[in-house]
Amino acid sequence: MNLDADVETLSGIGAKTAEALRRGGIKTVRDLFYSLPRDYENYQNLTRIADLKPGKVVIKGTIDHLNTHYGKTRRLAITEGIISDGSASVRTVWFNQAYRAKQFQPGKTYLFSGNFELKYGRYQLTSPSSTLYEADDLENAVRPEEESPGYQPIYSMHLGIKPDQFKRLIRRSKKLFAEIPDLLPNTTSKPTFVKPRARADALFEVHFPKDQNAVARGRRYLAYEELFELILAARLNKQENQKLKSEPLPFEVENTKQIIGSLPFTLTPGQKRATWDILKDLEKTTPMNRLLQGDVGSGKTVVAAISAYQAIKAGAQVALLAPTAILAAQHAESLDALLKPLGVQTALLIGSTKNKAELKKHIKSGEVDLVIGTHALLTDDTEFNRLAFAIIDEQHRFGVAQRQKLLLKSPENEAPHLLAMTATPIPRSLQLTIFGDLTVSTIPELPQGRQPIETKIIREIDQKQYLYPKVKEEIKKGRQVYWICKSIEDSPKEETVSVKKQAEALKTLFPNFTIDFLHGRMKPAEKDEKMQKFQAGKTDILVSTTVVEVGVNVPNATLMVIMDAEGFGLAQLHQLRGRVGRGKHQSYCFLVKAGEERPSRRLRELEKSTSGFHLAEVDLKIRGPGEIYGALQSGALDLRIATLTDTELISLASRHVDRFLKDSDLKNYPELAQVIQKYQQLTTLN
Ligand code: ADP
Ligand code: MG
Repeated sequence: MNLDADVETLSGIGAKTAEALRRGGIKTVRDLFYSLPRDYENYQNLTRIADLKPGKVVIKGTIDHLNTHYGKTRRLAITEGIISDGSASVRTVWFNQAYRAKQFQPGKTYLFSGNFELKYGRYQLTSPSSTLYEADDLENAVRPEEESPGYQPIYSMHLGIKPDQFKRLIRRSKKLFAEIPDLLPNTTSKPTFVKPRARADALFEVHFPKDQNAVARGRRYLAYEELFELILAARLNKQENQKLKSEPLPFEVENTKQIIGSLPFTLTPGQKRATWDILKDLEKTTPMNRLLQGDVGSGKTVVAAISAYQAIKAGAQVALLAPTAILAAQHAESLDALLKPLGVQTALLIGSTKNKAELKKHIKSGEVDLVIGTHALLTDDTEFNRLAFAIIDEQHRFGVAQRQKLLLKSPENEAPHLLAMTATPIPRSLQLTIFGDLTVSTIPELPQGRQPIETKIIREIDQKQYLYPKVKEEIKKGRQVYWICKSIEDSPKEETVSVKKQAEALKTLFPNFTIDFLHGRMKPAEKDEKMQKFQAGKTDILVSTTVVEVGVNVPNATLMVIMDAEGFGLAQLHQLRGRVGRGKHQSYCFLVKAGEERPSRRLRELEKSTSGFHLAEVDLKIRGPGEIYGALQSGALDLRIATLTDTELISLASRHVDRFLKDSDLKNYPELAQVIQKYQQLTTLN
């Protein structure tokens, strides 16, 4: 059987149906078979209408007298009908499902499953699910003699044709399932459930299930298959990556000594290890593909700076990409301060940079050694002379496409070494799957002398009692305050405190302090100016939106106030909090919430812990990895059935893939080679 054949080649699918299916994304026989039911309904225990008792019931009958009327406010559409089965009739009601009135064909028999109950003095069947009943429904029946059908699949509404029609199509192809060829290699060292005909059986079980257990078995196999494909794609990417050539950047111990000696502090053990990992990688002729993960404030920038210096000394041009203009400007400033005395030429390229054309000339000619910039750096007319090392800060802020743009800027036939940095650790399950071609360095500790940030959740009405005295105290000591608000201006829609209103209120409250505000709708130059004033200590309180969220470094700031804290995600709150506690002073974070409700788990975890790694795990549990990581965020990785939290299945698949790569040749598995292509783009950084 050819799974790549057009669906139209199946008997019973004409040009019109095929066209409709195509619109629903189903082009090939494979697409059809892999359009799995979205749910199931148990229609096994059929009751005659005359015998109905209150509770969950299944009945079979024809339906008529269908009509929809609206409640008083027109907000509620009530669709009613009468179901009859020869023994008796029963009224059925659906709410806000007006399509029901047109769903049923007169004279045809349907199955209904719902709650039979007394409402307003009458018995009714409330909001039942339904499916067309056909004689062959009995094929899976537990008790065919009673004409009680089996467990029924429910298909998605988005397959181009109606779910019932889709079900019938699958039914008609039932015999073909036996001919579905195996996909996964039946090599040594594989889980026992990977055996001949396993795929055919699994697909059959999900489309024609006997019961829940059969569905679970089938789905587990298909999830496994998907993970196998994903992991195989990632491993092959890694192999491909290893074949790429890059400029080897030899390491000179004198250079490293020189730059480390010029730092005002000693490196932490984690920083030393990470630097060593990177310098070793840079010497290779295959591109480095390394992720540097370390909590907010762990000092990733200086590791990048040492590596960049080493690379530049070895003749490379280096690019550092940052997600915001504020952050890029700040990196440019601190890196310039560190590297200029060592003879390195740096430049900042952001949207508001003046004389861009001029600067780009210098980048192209190679006069500039280190270019620091935002997305502005990715435009086609930014050409490098000899880009051999690319650094991406806060890498989870960038998509695959943006990373690729940067990497393509190196000389032809060469890939730059890549260092990606993040404070949001990648969970192990994702390292094994989509980030399979990445090596990871971790800075596990913060520099010495940092006291953990004291975090407190307070109610809005308690600000006067707990927060304002603290604000005064810190500013009197010479420290500075960030004050984060969700919105820029007051709006009738949102009840959150806005930047502008908060700034006004603070000016009244603290007339002797210098208060300024900042938000994303300001011109970049204005933002930079305000940020610089704050950095220079000229502003006591900076009221801002989350534009200061990532990376910004003002060690003298010791108090972070976050208004309407419930409105932010955990990772974001942790990042925001990380703007303080960056110097030697004890720092504080106040999470302000409106209302009297108990704070969410997010806020409570944040109050308890300052470890980004711990919080990332909690976040993973609360939200799942899909929300957290780049490609996943954009929805590009649309897993059909597997979840990236199923660590047991992931490690089984991972071992099986390793074995396969050792023992076999993908060339002998053409279908596998084809289906993994869609993942290969996604699971690579190059
Ligand atoms: P992040 O990892 O969040 O990017 P940064 O690189 O911005 O952190 O570093 C945070 C602050 O810690 C900076 O002010 C930096 O100069 C300082 N720092 C970095 N490494 C050390 C160290 N080993 N000892 C003391 N301070 C350090
Ligand atoms: Mg940083």
